[in-house]
Amino acid sequence: IIKDSRSITKKIMEEMSVKMNESIAELRQTSLSGRTRGIAWRKSQLRAILNLLNENENRIFEALHEDLGKHPAEAFRDEVGVLIKSVNHALSNIEKWAAPKKASIPLVFFPAKGQVLPEPLGTVLVISSWNFPISLSLEPVIGAISAGNTVVLKPSELAPACSALLAEKIPLYMDGKAIRVIEGGSEVSEKLIQQKWGKIFFTGSSRVGRLIMSAAAQHLTPVTLELGGKCPVILDSLSGLDLKLAIKRIIAAKWGPCGGQACISSDYVLVEQRFASIAVELLKKFIKKFYGDNLKNLKYLSRIVNQHHFNRIHKLLQDPGVAASIVYGGSLDEENMMIEPTILLDPPLDAEIMTEEIFGPLLPIITLERIEDSIEFIRGRPSPLVIYAFTRSESIKQKILSGTSSGAVAFNDTMIQFLCEGLPFGGVGQSGFGRYHGKYSFDTFSHEKAVMYGSYFPEIEPRYPPWNDFKMEF
Ligand code: NAD
Repeated sequence: IIKDSRSITKKIMEEMSVKMNESIAELRQTSLSGRTRGIAWRKSQLRAILNLLNENENRIFEALHEDLGKHPAEAFRDEVGVLIKSVNHALSNIEKWAAPKKASIPLVFFPAKGQVLPEPLGTVLVISSWNFPISLSLEPVIGAISAGNTVVLKPSELAPACSALLAEKIPLYMDGKAIRVIEGGSEVSEKLIQQKWGKIFFTGSSRVGRLIMSAAAQHLTPVTLELGGKCPVILDSLSGLDLKLAIKRIIAAKWGPCGGQACISSDYVLVEQRFASIAVELLKKFIKKFYGDNLKNLKYLSRIVNQHHFNRIHKLLQDPGVAASIVYGGSLDEENMMIEPTILLDPPLDAEIMTEEIFGPLLPIITLERIEDSIEFIRGRPSPLVIYAFTRSESIKQKILSGTSSGAVAFNDTMIQFLCEGLPFGGVGQSGFGRYHGKYSFDTFSHEKAVMYGSYFPEIEPRYPPWNDFKMEF
């Protein structure tokens, strides 16, 4: 029986490979035909995304609820709304982005002219994650289409309802010869990344990011890696802050997006020792206010995505030193995949909760003697995707900016940097590389071709041999 099922699986995989290759070949043909370069085509596909979102809003909310227990308010804010904003921004700016830009040319070459001409990269691959399964899939697609590429989208298998919805709806709204959804898990993804692409745009873990990069290296395919990490929050309690407001925003960034399963969630908080107890009390107060304190009825908190991640987070709490540091929450409801918002005060720094990305509803508070020590603390660890800092001190702000490295820094607020098209979104070091959102998405999926329009006049003889003293001086 085992032998039979192996040979059936092998056969299915072979058939899938053939279909995949046919799809990719067709998209390459479309790309070569030049059809996707026209601004009218790009706009029509962006409008198609808009229609897909508007006409299927409830289906999207249902799928997000099925996969992650997301509340529709959160689903609109973090997925549908964000995407509508991005599409509209691209529609308003695409002509400007795609236009050739004049480049300055040394006077000596006058009347030659220079231009920087954005051109599509060809057929690109987008591999996305499960925590924002709609927006992390379509946001890069918006950039890829705006830049005139054809696209294969591989959504995450860990959000199956959203993946299936994208696979069902995208062909109904968008150009099927230019945009394809290929569903599946790592076995499908591993096959996809072996192909030659114009670009691979990957959102996910550092572990898989390394595999993507090494597969891409075989074809010298450029990659963008949107990875994760531990995003710290510096709470400079002595700088005259509105503490309640700071605490509310920290909670919004920890438990607000997908129950803490977000790359830009606040991972841990750094505070001065003397302020720790006040911070904990304020956190408890507002957690109760926002989410209640009944684990069985946390209806505004997304659930843990699956058993594997539930067990992973549970294991973080089972370390004896970590368990002893819990000052609020800590209960788990395995049946409903819910974990209570949990605060930990000074868990051991060598425990996994402080060495790995938490990606769940646990918030360690780490106490320091002086808030300035937070710079050293962050520098001693991999560069995060975002550093959040609540402070009114200009000198602390400058120390953070010059003394640390991160994809972004947000002062006195959380999450909203993600919503600003004018700001590039992406990591540095272990949190990834490359950037997107707004014009940055367009650039990420374009090659900036240098174009020189030369002239036959004037002809400068000193540029040619035979060399002599006069030419050397010229
Ligand atoms: P993951 O790396 O396990 O999976 C991401 C994607 O890679 C999925 O589509 C999956 O099917 C595919 N994949 C899995 N194994 C593969 C393999 N061997 N070869 C090729 N592809 C493979 O990550 P995840 O669990 O989806 O996401 C969690 C991580 O992603 C966290 O670290 C988080 O911080 C990060 N993340 C980053 C961002 C960002 O924008 N920077 C956003 C969301 C999540």
